[in-house]
Amino acid sequence: MPSQWGTDVAGVRRALMQPVSPANVPRVALTFDACGGRGGSDVDSALIDGLRADGIPATLFLNSRWIQANPQLAADLAADPLFELGNHGTSHVPLSVTGRDAYGIPGTRSSQEAVDEVWGNHELLTTLTGRPPRFFRAGTAHYDEIGAQIVLDLGETPIGFSVNGDGGASSTRGRCARNSAAARRAASCSPT
Ligand SMILES: [Zn+2]
Repeated sequence: MPSQWGTDVAGVRRALMQPVSPANVPRVALTFDACGGRGGSDVDSALIDGLRADGIPATLFLNSRWIQANPQLAADLAADPLFELGNHGTSHVPLSVTGRDAYGIPGTRSSQEAVDEVWGNHELLTTLTGRPPRFFRAGTAHYDEIGAQIVLDLGETPIGFSVNGDGGASSTRGRCARNSAAARRAASCSPT
């Protein structure tokens, strides 16, 4: 039985291993989950265009539902060296072995369901990009520690965050700006 639940459980990586560059410049990793809007398959084109215009690399977490709804864009993102595509699950649900829920979304109910949640989209992304995804973030970013270990056993790193930029697409523009400022402060500190 798991004893931990949430976005910060054993095994989930929430910060860069090396938060300072060789030139001693603090840095952050930007990650975005593609799961918002109607049907969870909308596209924030302004965001993608902005990253491209400024040459800002990012990891984009895609789930199977989104990929199937946006096949051409998914292929386009996969071909862009600016972006790494991460695994955001097959059904976009919390990764649990007991069915725990987050934000009213029921999680996987067993080890087998957790494996399937990771592996279904692992295979889809491998086909899309030509190589297996390195990183996994559960739908809702919630895990128990057994789910996180399953991700590791399947060869991917479960990813969390140290700063939640937009509160799961619920924050105002001003709040997003303040959250982003927190990322600057976090990058200036040693990881905990
Ligand atoms: Zn999501």
